[in-house]
Amino acid sequence: MRKYVIMGVQGSGKGTQATMLSEDFDLVHISVGDMFRWNVQRHTKLGAQVRRTMAAGELVGDDLVEGVVKATLAEHDWNFGFIIDGFPRNERQAEFFLESYDIDGVIHLDMPDSEVRRRVLARRLCSGCGMDYNLLASSPRVAGKCDVCGGELIPREDDTEEALAVRLRDYHQKTNPVLDIFRRKEYVITVDARPGKEIVQQAIRAKLGLPPRELPMPVPDRGGQPASGGEPGAGGQPGG
Ligand SMILES: [Zn+2]
Repeated sequence: MRKYVIMGVQGSGKGTQATMLSEDFDLVHISVGDMFRWNVQRHTKLGAQVRRTMAAGELVGDDLVEGVVKATLAEHDWNFGFIIDGFPRNERQAEFFLESYDIDGVIHLDMPDSEVRRRVLARRLCSGCGMDYNLLASSPRVAGKCDVCGGELIPREDDTEEALAVRLRDYHQKTNPVLDIFRRKEYVITVDARPGKEIVQQAIRAKLGLPPRELPMPVPDRGGQPASGGEPGAGGQPGG
């Protein structure tokens, strides 16, 4: 069974890439962020702990993360592979992880800080319905207004230059030693995270020796001719 770790800074498309892999290779996507959100929404004890930490403006502690991941992996059905996102977060956890589980690879999505800044600072949130926007990729039809409810679009509270600089510094400080540990074991493949998600996905698969992703079929127009596969003379299939 394939077991992977995926690492990348916020905005690098880590969740999207992990989901694409898990769908096609029947992997369980273990996302630490999703697990925390799940617990917060359901008002579990863990959720309360997470909520208190975040209300104090702090990051959820490594011990808490470690406990949750250990519990999840203890329940995991090892007939299935997994892809884990959001762990390990420090050297000790990386060592523990290597001792405890055989992994097949570590996917490192590489994105320069300048690009992270550009993407993150373009994010907006609807103050009415909470819908997410990114002014680079999904601008609203009317500038500053939500397409769904007409509410005002605002930046997220923690998407300021200063807060992002702190998060980036923290990310590199913690991640670089973890990557070094994995690199010593020759697990790490590094992929440029800047191109579109399909291109990034193909690059990941090529480097991991996985079969390429079948490109999504074009959606036929309603009432029109269904797309019939091979266009005459269409060369240059991506992938491979
Ligand atoms: Zn809205």
